Amino acid sequence: MQGEPLSAISVDVEDYFQTESFARDVRRDDWPTFPSRVVDNTRRVLDIFARHEVRGTFFVLGWVAERFPDLVREIRDAGHELGCHSYWHRLIYSLTPEEFEADTRRAKAAIEAAAGTTIACYRAPTFSITKRSMWALDVLARCGFTRDSSIFPIYHDHYGIVGSPVRPYAIECASATLTEFPMSTFRALRYDFPVGGGGYLRMLPLWFNKFGMHKILDSGRPAMVYLHPWEIDPGQPRIRTRLKSRIRHYTNLAGFQRNLEALLRSFRFGTMSDVIATMPPLSRFAPAGTDGLVPAGAGATTLPA
Ligand SMILES: [Zn+2]
Repeated sequence: MQGEPLSAISVDVEDYFQTESFARDVRRDDWPTFPSRVVDNTRRVLDIFARHEVRGTFFVLGWVAERFPDLVREIRDAGHELGCHSYWHRLIYSLTPEEFEADTRRAKAAIEAAAGTTIACYRAPTFSITKRSMWALDVLARCGFTRDSSIFPIYHDHYGIVGSPVRPYAIECASATLTEFPMSTFRALRYDFPVGGGGYLRMLPLWFNKFGMHKILDSGRPAMVYLHPWEIDPGQPRIRTRLKSRIRHYTNLAGFQRNLEALLRSFRFGTMSDVIATMPPLSRFAPAGTDGLVPAGAGATTLPA
């Protein structure tokens, strides 16, 4: 493993009742009535990372940071990078730019107040920066973020920009430039498969995830693995909801930690910023409204395969 290229590992720090799968069944006003498990579960993630001597990027929900500021400090003190996962975990394309900016500023302030440091990295709830919400990139730049990891280059019913770049790239926004670290996909049989995180690491076989990670690294780019603290908590209270959401949230909670630790043993990981620091100069793109991303300025390259 020594000398192998570095990939990023990230944690979206939210509670089990705050996911998009339950958004239609759990009102945000009712969040305080659920027994919270985010502190204990995040501590377990910190223990796992410590055992494997891995540092990652923790995107914290502003709502969680406000209620559990000590947890934010524990993450910081363990040497990890802090980022923002919004305040209310709402789909960005369901918001107006003004609502999104207010949510983002509130979350950033809560996390920074808890941590006592500024943060530079953002992950959208449910990867909801899509062609319907390209304006969000400029809002993030205006709010002081310089790195984002929210765009999934696949088709999915909730997220994704099909055909967007698969390796980290620069996005020239009106007010500043963001570095985008896209979620991981690999190409096989003329399809782009998502790999190495969340439901994909939980529900698809481990060999498939490892195969995809090797394909990504062999093509000379880093992977972005992601997880949620509730994914290593098979004992979490069950929420009554429709079948599709039950499948997405509850499948193989018992096996997730095993799959995660297998990846931690097999690949080298660091924070999102650690990995970006190792990258050669990035291709540059610009948001183009509902057309998505287009090559930007002089020296721009064509959209990568
Ligand atoms: Zn989330």
